[in-house]
Amino acid sequence: MNNFSGIYFHIPFCPKKCLYCDFFSVTKFSESALENYGKVLLNELKSRFNELSGTKIVSVYFGGGSPSMMNENFFQKFAESASKLGINLGCCEVTVEVNPADIGESWIKNLKNCGVNRISLGVQAFDDAVLAEMGRRTTVSDMQKNIPLFAKYFDNISCDFIYGLGKNREINQELTKVFELAPLKHLSAYSYSRPERKNAPQLLNEDETLLQEKEIRDFLQKKGFSRYEISNYSLKGFESRHNMLYWTYGSWLGIGAGAASFIRKTGVSSRYADDIGAFIESDGLSSFKLTLQERLEEFLLMGLRVKIGINIKDFKELFGKNFFELVSEKVVSDLVSEGFLDFDKVSGILKCTEKGSDFLNAILIKLFDGIKC
Ligand code: SF4
Repeated sequence: MNNFSGIYFHIPFCPKKCLYCDFFSVTKFSESALENYGKVLLNELKSRFNELSGTKIVSVYFGGGSPSMMNENFFQKFAESASKLGINLGCCEVTVEVNPADIGESWIKNLKNCGVNRISLGVQAFDDAVLAEMGRRTTVSDMQKNIPLFAKYFDNISCDFIYGLGKNREINQELTKVFELAPLKHLSAYSYSRPERKNAPQLLNEDETLLQEKEIRDFLQKKGFSRYEISNYSLKGFESRHNMLYWTYGSWLGIGAGAASFIRKTGVSSRYADDIGAFIESDGLSSFKLTLQERLEEFLLMGLRVKIGINIKDFKELFGKNFFELVSEKVVSDLVSEGFLDFDKVSGILKCTEKGSDFLNAILIKLFDGIKC
């Protein structure tokens, strides 16, 4: 994904805070605040667009928060702005994250008309007791009503699912029911990590969590999905381009309060403050150049999460030196002998083994210690 890039719009508005959520989002906002915010998003796109010059834009992603709070007009204006800037949405994966509680058919149809071609559904669980424990606004009945509407207009649908919480869940049954509502092509399964909040759902013990994860993995395997990244599964050809950009060290322009960008050719990262007022005033954007150590850590962290791993032959172009001039060859070969990493000297591909995927944090600590800069 050398020269590929993407655009990310962050919509940090949620009518109600989920009890497990640690992301930045606000729950009190008006229609006019959403409208102003949407205008600034598109103005920022226009004024920062040249940062992506020389790259090929392959993905546009609306994430949150709850992008389904934005009205039809916003997406129409987005499509107009994209066309004026020369972005060919037909060649991009254009994803919108959606809470199945929020939408109606006309809103969905409008998305399709505005160039959106992929939907990411915030399902998380398909059991009312678990959804209530999570503090989700969505119920099983909302999903039964609305998910088929997405399937009517879109054939590229993903869903987010959380495990590691909810006692005695029938994961297999939950997933069966979701797949009956829409023929999913992609699923992100996140392991719950409990925020420091009194009323947050309880974390299951390690055995129960591993069991739920295994049930998800087995279910998806039977559906023909493969695990292309630690938390992500898809049918062949439906790996998320947005995610792959992060993991393969592409460039992305993140716009919105709390959103971050990374431009590969300059090595510059930037980030908007978690402050909607500052964003609307077009203030609060800070830029910083990552140190070599930080860039290398990011490169290893992202690259080893994906099944295809990293190609150390491309390394010099990115970092100006050969891989083993900057990363200890001994540490890598020890991790290979211990069965955690797989290294093919001919192709230059370094990746985690199946066993290594379960111990990624420990592997990264060793690799980071072995960085020589
Ligand atoms: S919808 Fe998403 S961002 Fe909003 S509170 Fe729930 S988990 Fe957090």
